[in-house]
Amino acid sequence: MSTVSVNVVTPDGAIYEGDVEMVSARAQSGELGILPGHIPLVAPLAVGAVRLKNDSSVNLVSVSGGFIEVRPDNVTILAEAAETPSHIDVDRAQKAKERAEDRLERAKQEEIDFKRAQLALQRATTRLEVAGK
Ligand code: ATP
Repeated sequence: MSTVSVNVVTPDGAIYEGDVEMVSARAQSGELGILPGHIPLVAPLAVGAVRLKNDSSVNLVSVSGGFIEVRPDNVTILAEAAETPSHIDVDRAQKAKERAEDRLERAKQEEIDFKRAQLALQRATTRLEVAGK
């Protein structure tokens, strides 16, 4: 089976490097499924779990926005923040989720605070999903 080389990079450094059969990522325009040989593209990412599939396993990485750059034989994800499961502090994500839910209850739908709380909630729930919680 052919593979594509994947790098996930944040301002803090490289988070993941490997060869995979398929990459799934949430772009702002919708879900992207990338197989080896994909046409080149650059797309802004939403907050979500990136799935890196190999024959026997799927690795998850939580990604908080940034960009994905696709070339036929490699994929680079430049993320604002990204974590593999072992780097996720579950207690911190749980507390961030509760804070965001409290703020969402108090903020009005059109307020900037509402949008910020929605994004914070997405980051926290993505981290909990990737950590298997
Ligand atoms: P918090 O409110 O807990 O800070 P946040 O969503 O506001 O969460 P970010 O701004 O997305 O945090 O991330 C800031 C830095 O902290 C990044 O380097 C990110 O990888 C790291 N980080 C955030 N939450 C966690 C977590 N639950 N476990 C491990 N690292 C985390």
